[in-house]
Amino acid sequence: MQGNAKPTEEGRRPSSARRAPSPRDRGEGEDIAIIGGGIIGICAATLLAEAGRSVTIFDRTGICEETSSGNAAAFAFSDVLPLAHKGMIRQLPRWLADPLGPLAIPPAYLPKLLPWLFRFWRAGAARHFEASLAAQAGMMKLAEAEWMGLLDHSGTRPMLREDGSLELYESEAEFRASLSGWRARERFGIGFRHVEGEGMAALQPGLSPRFVKGTFVPGWKTVADPKLLGKAIWAYAERLGARFEHARVERIGTGTNGVTLMLADGTARKAKQLVIAAGAWSHLLAKDLGDRIPLETERGYNTTLPVSAFDVKRQLIFSGHGFVITPLETGLRVGGAVELGGIERAPNFARSKAMLEKAKRFLPGLDPSGGREWMGFRPSLPDSLPVIGRARAPNIVYAFGHGHLGLTQAAATGRLIRDLLLGQAPPLDLTPFRPQRF
Ligand SMILES: Cc1cc2nc3c(=O)[nH]c(=O)nc-3n(C[C@H](O)[C@H](O)[C@H](O)COP(=O)(O)OP(=O)(O)OC[C@H]3O[C@@H](n4cnc5c(N)ncnc54)[C@H](O)[C@@H]3O)c2cc1C
Repeated sequence: MQGNAKPTEEGRRPSSARRAPSPRDRGEGEDIAIIGGGIIGICAATLLAEAGRSVTIFDRTGICEETSSGNAAAFAFSDVLPLAHKGMIRQLPRWLADPLGPLAIPPAYLPKLLPWLFRFWRAGAARHFEASLAAQAGMMKLAEAEWMGLLDHSGTRPMLREDGSLELYESEAEFRASLSGWRARERFGIGFRHVEGEGMAALQPGLSPRFVKGTFVPGWKTVADPKLLGKAIWAYAERLGARFEHARVERIGTGTNGVTLMLADGTARKAKQLVIAAGAWSHLLAKDLGDRIPLETERGYNTTLPVSAFDVKRQLIFSGHGFVITPLETGLRVGGAVELGGIERAPNFARSKAMLEKAKRFLPGLDPSGGREWMGFRPSLPDSLPVIGRARAPNIVYAFGHGHLGLTQAAATGRLIRDLLLGQAPPLDLTPFRPQRF
C-alpha cells in the first residue's frame, strides 16, 4: 500500500517534513502514549503522527487484534439513532424470551448490569433521545469526512466498498414500525429508498420470499476487511514514525509534567500526554484515575464463511433478528446480536450458530459450512455516545465507548483527540461526549 500523505488541512503534514525534536528524540520519554491498539487508538495515533507528534501505542495483544478485528465492517454513517428508543425498547420482552435471540442477559450478570440498564432506559426518554440523536448526527458527518480523508492519505481507499445496505422486513407491521426511525434520519439528510418485489430482488437475488419489504441506503459503506484496514492504516502511521510496544498497562501515575505507565513486566514508561483508547476495558483504567464511567460491553458474535458461500451484493441487515451479513474480501461475515454479559464470561458460540441457521433460512442458497466463529466486546455507554474528552487527571484524554460504531467513528475520534491534545478548536461541540456527563 502506497502512502501519499498530503497536507490537506491544518495539522497534517507530509511524512518527509522536518519537525522540531520531540521528547522521544531528546530521551525524555514519549510525547504521546496511547493505551489500546484497536481502531480508535490506531486512528488517533495516525492523526497525531500526521501532525508531527511522536506517538507510541501500548497494547497487550497487538494492532487491531481484538474487537476491531472481527466486526461487521460497516461505515454506518447513517446509523444515527441512539439504541435506546421506543421501537427498540418495545422489542425487548420478545428478544429476551429467546435465549439465543438478538439480545441476551445472563441471569448471574443482571444485578451488576441494573444501574446501566436504568441509565439506558432513561436515555430513551424523548428529551435525551433527541439530544443524543443530534450529537450522533453531527459526529457522523465528521466521521464520513475524516474517514474519506484518512483513506486517501493512507492509500487505503481501494479497501472501501460503496454498495449501500439493504434492510429487510418480514411483515408490513415490521416495516411500519421502522418508519419513525427513517423519518428521524430524513431530518438529518440521510438518503434511503423503500423497495419491494422486483426492486428488492434486483438489490439482492436469492432472498427468501418471507421478506416483503426492504429499505436501501445508498450512502452506507463497508470495508474489505476491518482487520486488514486497521493494519494498513497502522502501516501508514509507522511510516510517519508512530511506534508500537507490546505491553499490558497495569497502572497510571499522574502529575503536572506528564504521566507514567506502569507495565505488567514491572518496568515503567513516561509520556507527556496519554490517550486511553482501551475499548471495553477503558473504564478500569479510568476508575483508578478517579473517573467513574458506566461502560458496559455488548458482546457480539459472528461466523465468517468462505467467500464462495453466497453472492451477497451489499450488507444485508435483519434488524428484527439483530444481525447482518457482510460481504468481505476475506469471506462472508454473518453476525451481530448483543449479549450484556461483561468482560470475564466465556463466549457462548451457540449464538453464532443460531444466526447462521437463520441466515440459511433467509438466503436458502447459502452454504453454511467451513465458517470461523468469533466474539468481540463492543464498549458501550447507555446513551450510545462515546466518551471523548479530558480525564479529571491532568494530561490524559479518553477515547472509548463507541459501542456498535467504533469502526465508523474512529477517524473522527482521532481528529477530535488530535485537536484536544494540540490545543486546537475541535470541529464539533464536545459537550455531549464529555466523560463527566454521567
Ligand atoms: C459483532 C460486532 C459487530 C460490529 N460491527 C461494527 C460495524 O459494522 N461498524 C462499526 O463501526 N462498528 C462495529 N462494531 C463495533 C466496533 O467493532 C467497536 O466499537 C470497535 O472495534 C472498538 O474499538 P476500540 O479501539 O475502542 O476497542 P478494541 O478494538 O477492543 O481495542 C482496545 C484495545 O485495548 C487493549 N487494552 C485494553 N486494556 C489494556 C491495557 N490495560 N493495557 C494494554 N492494552 C490494553 C486491548 O488489548 C485492545 O487491543 C461491531 C462490534 C461487534 C462486536
